[in-house]
Amino acid sequence: MEKKGQIYEGKAKILYNTNDPDFVIQYFKDDATAFNAAKKGTIENKGVFNNKISTKIFEYLKSEGVPSHFEKHLSDREMLVKKVEIVPIEVIIRNKAAGSFCRNYGAEQGVELSSPVLEYCYKCDEFNDPLMNEYHIQVLNLATPEELEVIKNYTFKINALMKQFFAKLNLDLVDFKIEFGRCKGEIILADEISPDTCRIWEAGTGKKLDKDRFRHDMGDIEEAYQEVLNRVSK
Ligand code: UDP
Repeated sequence: MEKKGQIYEGKAKILYNTNDPDFVIQYFKDDATAFNAAKKGTIENKGVFNNKISTKIFEYLKSEGVPSHFEKHLSDREMLVKKVEIVPIEVIIRNKAAGSFCRNYGAEQGVELSSPVLEYCYKCDEFNDPLMNEYHIQVLNLATPEELEVIKNYTFKINALMKQFFAKLNLDLVDFKIEFGRCKGEIILADEISPDTCRIWEAGTGKKLDKDRFRHDMGDIEEAYQEVLNRVSK
């Protein structure tokens, strides 16, 4: 597959065209942002860790019947993915209270939620990714009711699978954000799944192994991403 011109550069990744119109290359950068890019920095080798961690998770989810844009691991920082039209909704699942759930609802960090909480945010930096519900999605024409049903069903399935996958590695999946895309009339999982997009705590100790270490200047950030990679590579 031949790499062609850049299509788009985001906060953590760059997309390149290829000589096949159905596929693009997703390149993972070391750039890190938090609080809607108010905090910026780099995490050494983050791109390599996230590319490899995402690859492992997409492969696992595929083996369990969840289709994604992932096609092939190409190099340390690059994966080949199907070209999709991103649905501009950030889909969040929470298993334990953390982050904005604590800030918005006064919950104590780490409290187990009695059932997984599904949230949608409008993927729009200009408006600070506002929280929204299914009515907002309909009137803003972000997805059809049928598409949203598919997204919701995949999301709960992905949560159940990932919780189990991480639990076996002695990791606790606290919450995560995923995105979906449209590809040839189907909804498939897209973007990435990594410590940038998930809260992952070591079971037992509660040690944070994710982007919260960058958000809150906790140190040992590279080590935390490396630790997650070591475990998912087992
Ligand atoms: N998240 C993300 N991108 C975003 C916002 C959130 O990947 O733009 C992830 C975040 O890493 C966490 C989950 O979604 O795993 C829930 O995030 P929360 O709303 O608590 O965000 P916070 O404001 O605390 O970053």
